[in-house]
Amino acid sequence: YKISMAEMQVEKVLGKGQFGVVHLVYHIPTKVHMALKEIRLELNQRALQQIIMELDVLHKARSPYIVDFYGAFFIESCVYYCMEYMDYESLDRLYPAGIPEAILGKIALSVVKGLRFLKDEMNIIHRDVKPTNILVNRKGEVKLCDFGVSGELNQSLAKTHVGCQSYMAPERIIGNGGGPDGYTIQSDVWSLGLTIIEVGMGRYPYDNSGFTNIFDQLNAIVNGDPPSLPADRYSKSACDFVAGCLKKNANERPVYQDLLRHPWLLEAEQTFVDMEDWAARAHALFLARNKR
Ligand code: ADP
Repeated sequence: YKISMAEMQVEKVLGKGQFGVVHLVYHIPTKVHMALKEIRLELNQRALQQIIMELDVLHKARSPYIVDFYGAFFIESCVYYCMEYMDYESLDRLYPAGIPEAILGKIALSVVKGLRFLKDEMNIIHRDVKPTNILVNRKGEVKLCDFGVSGELNQSLAKTHVGCQSYMAPERIIGNGGGPDGYTIQSDVWSLGLTIIEVGMGRYPYDNSGFTNIFDQLNAIVNGDPPSLPADRYSKSACDFVAGCLKKNANERPVYQDLLRHPWLLEAEQTFVDMEDWAARAHALFLARNKR
């Protein structure tokens, strides 16, 4: 079954990405709401065809911690990627002034399980772990999206990548990460650490107010001390978990198996937290802030 644009009814804009707009669409044949992500690329037909083919393996990526993939197609020089609609959208919209540790622990647990699934079951390195790529729905479920499944797509996106908030690990910035394209699983662990601090504290962890440009920021990541969770606001085990992820030497960072056995995640696993209630409140706050 091949999904196509003709079957979609566009309802609204969900967000704007670096490479195009994400729309909420209604898929008429299945009566399902979907998020349709547009990725505008300057590529030839062959390369676009290759991307669609490579994305196809995502049909097998079924996990409660991964946003479902419904199919992809291209029109002219745009790739369209259809995925599960996460109605409370991305985490960056849900942390006005930071979030409590118990909820942060559940979020970290879902993200680590998602990353481990991608690695163990799909042999995929995410490459872009950050709050905008972690989505939440009204059931309080937390899922990963936007991972680097297609080599062809990774290449075209990397060429044009610029960002004012970098989640890149130090070894990525200096360019000695190892792996065929300089990317390894350990770089995702760094991005995870930064993401946890950002979501917990309610802001990107490097203070960019004093920076005049992206180079100052990259310099701070490479040469400065890594950020940490404040010990007066978080438990010792939360601080320790994050400190492990943010070891500047990639080889010293824990692997997913270690992270899942860390006391902070073991506790998160055993504690009941009403994620549905948290998500509803956080989303209502987001809507209130954005109302004029
Ligand atoms: P970026 O290029 O920054 O990674 P994206 O293009 O992936 O951003 O997405 C832009 C925004 O669209 C996200 O921040 C999110 O709020 C929204 N979005 C993306 N995918 C979905 C989805 N599956 N469900 C709901 N909202 C989504």
